Amino acid sequence: MLSWDTGSNLTTPSDPHFRLSDTVCQRAWVEIDRGALIHNVRQLKGLLRPETALMAVVKADAYGHGAIAVAETVLEAGATWLAVATLQEGIQLREAGIASPILVLGAINTPGEVDAIARWQLQSTLCNAQQALMFAEVLAQRQQTLTVHLNLDTGMSRLGTPWQDATAFVRLVAQLPSLKLGGIYSHFATADDPDPTVMNLQQEYFGRAIAQIQAEGISLPLLHIANSAATLRDCAFHYDLVRVGLALYGLYPSPHLRPTIDLKPVLQVKARVAQVKTIAAGTGISYGYKYIADRDMRLAVVGIGYADGVPRNLSNRLQVSVRGQRIPQVGAITMDQLMLDVTAIPDLQPGEVVTLIGTDEEQVISADDWAESLNTISWEILCGFKHRLPRIFVN
Ligand SMILES: *Cc1c(COP(=O)(O)O)cnc(C)c1O
Repeated sequence: MLSWDTGSNLTTPSDPHFRLSDTVCQRAWVEIDRGALIHNVRQLKGLLRPETALMAVVKADAYGHGAIAVAETVLEAGATWLAVATLQEGIQLREAGIASPILVLGAINTPGEVDAIARWQLQSTLCNAQQALMFAEVLAQRQQTLTVHLNLDTGMSRLGTPWQDATAFVRLVAQLPSLKLGGIYSHFATADDPDPTVMNLQQEYFGRAIAQIQAEGISLPLLHIANSAATLRDCAFHYDLVRVGLALYGLYPSPHLRPTIDLKPVLQVKARVAQVKTIAAGTGISYGYKYIADRDMRLAVVGIGYADGVPRNLSNRLQVSVRGQRIPQVGAITMDQLMLDVTAIPDLQPGEVVTLIGTDEEQVISADDWAESLNTISWEILCGFKHRLPRIFVN
């Protein structure tokens, strides 16, 4: 891997005690509320039976929140497992000194990757027999054993062995001395949908596969199937551990799951006013003049743009909070800047803070609001903030 591929280490503060005052140097930043993260872990733990473990899903740099600091915080707060999507994400956590079990959810397909999985003591997902045999061969050479989790496809049609073939797959893995069966899991496709039909069917398939495996006399490892939505939905989905991502970060996978527990959003996005001026009625604003001032207007230029992860598709539709007031964004969002109509705050000064996502006095702007405007999901919004924005931990 080229060294610039790991450049995220430079801008993801591993020091969770980063001071808020550090924002004085920033034109724009992502603020991470440790207290909210701890609160969410406790709320989630409160839903679980004592014997069910909380696996914190910290893939994609902890959904844009900063994987190392998030991992350290959630482990302190009561999570006992971590999950990542890629080998590199797992190594990043180990290099930071994190010792908890880490499950890699993505597929590992080359001997070199197996080597690294073994060296860094990560737990790997196996999706089929071919992978299992490749793992066994590499591990035999290293004279090492590894704990693996088998992924069963019960209806997601993504990674995993078709659930109907689970027994043969598990039998094979059980016969390979270098592989220790640590878990069997599956993943829901529609857990956030109010209609439970597909979800219940997937759970039934998972149950049937497990019953067949048990009938073979194979002792069952950890079983897990629940993402955030399933975790919030019903403890019947919890099994031995739950794999929670979105809810950790304080968002609900769907409005109908809101009443279950009280979650607090962890991430806020803030930027500073770079310049304020008055423009005359009829003046075009930003590239392409996609907005023409219909009156004399106080205009604020703010130092954040699409290269920071504010989608250009929100141009003329974004609303931000300034001094606790809702303020409309005007004209095309540019790479490093965007403009606001601040006629309502004529004395606004350069350097003042604008809240793009977060709570500012009475105003609450959530990643859900952005997701709705963009016809996408909050997961994508959270992951969209670039590493150019430092993650600053507060509370
Ligand atoms: C991302 C992921 C999760 C977490 O999903 P959330 O909806 O964010 O809780 C759980 N399991 C697997 C396999 C995943 O890929």
